[in-house]
Amino acid sequence: KLFNEVQELKGNIRVYCRVRPFLPGQDGKTSTVDYIGENGEILITNPFKQGKDTCRMFKFNKVFNTRASQAEVFSDIQPLIRSVLDGFNVCIFAYGQTGSGKTYTMSGPGTSKENWGVNYRALNDLFDISLSRRNAFSYEVGVQMVEIYNEQVRDLLSNNVQQKTLGIWSTSQPNGLVVPDASLHPVKSTSDVLELMDIGQTNRAVGSTALNERSSRSHSILTVHVRGLDLKNESTSRGCLHLIDLAGSERVERSEAIGDRLKEAQYINKSLSALGDVIFALAQKNSHVPYRNSKLTQVLQSSLGGQAKTLMFVQINPNTESYSETMSTLKFAERVS
Ligand code: ADP
Ligand code: MG
Repeated sequence: KLFNEVQELKGNIRVYCRVRPFLPGQDGKTSTVDYIGENGEILITNPFKQGKDTCRMFKFNKVFNTRASQAEVFSDIQPLIRSVLDGFNVCIFAYGQTGSGKTYTMSGPGTSKENWGVNYRALNDLFDISLSRRNAFSYEVGVQMVEIYNEQVRDLLSNNVQQKTLGIWSTSQPNGLVVPDASLHPVKSTSDVLELMDIGQTNRAVGSTALNERSSRSHSILTVHVRGLDLKNESTSRGCLHLIDLAGSERVERSEAIGDRLKEAQYINKSLSALGDVIFALAQKNSHVPYRNSKLTQVLQSSLGGQAKTLMFVQINPNTESYSETMSTLKFAERVS
């Protein structure tokens, strides 16, 4: 049944847009978001222009408005996540400028259950389902957490985070899956996961003055490996779920950025456009997919394309001053959807 649900998702690439609400203290009188339709339409208005040609309509698989709860968002992607138990590989990305709600969607604010983002809910759900299937299947779940910063991959769950820059992948797994050469931690419950995520978050901050600054300039990837043993015929399946909080997509003016900041911006730019190119090539069913152009696409290579499923959350904020970033975010998403 789950298999069928997944098959019903048209195509292997889906794009969901999510609009975050105005934050307390922000002037919410004018929004760039004019209209959100039931079928994935979103209308953006240029707040600086009047008259004709001030609106632009985009269409995605779905658009979540500012009132969508974490639970609602999750229930929509639940079939995709459950397919990992049946041996599918799934990548879920959050793309958007800094402050648009990527981390909110993927991790949530704080750790109260109601606010949990996709990653906690996903693991929690995987544990629930595996428990309910325990008479027929035995599942093993393991997680990895890496960060890609300036085209270097770091293991966020290793003890000596600072020293080690990783090779891209370990020797191939039995199913030919390529995974980051990072420590793999078995987990049995959601509280195991919460504990590991805490460690990962702490390690992410190492060497940076402000956690927020650093986290907006690096990609973080939580990888969940699931190995299922069918107790009746003793066959095994392996599925893999990547949950990716991407670096902020905002363009940095050349004149504003110097030194390290400029270097970071160039790396981010390069890897996000490489990601866009890969997803675009896959959506077009091109025979050549340019995986080699960034660490991000190399790390995810075996989980992008083929039978793998990809979902991108395109995050925007409704602020008028973000109009041009919002437009470039939506154009990026339109190209890959
Ligand atoms: P990003 O990771 O893209 O930089 P954040 O997830 O940190 O953005 O979100 C920026 C701010 O907006 C945070 O204070 C966050 O709590 C808030 N926020 C984001 N999305 C929502 C939402 N859907 N509902 C309420 N607050 C949100
Ligand atoms: Mg963030």
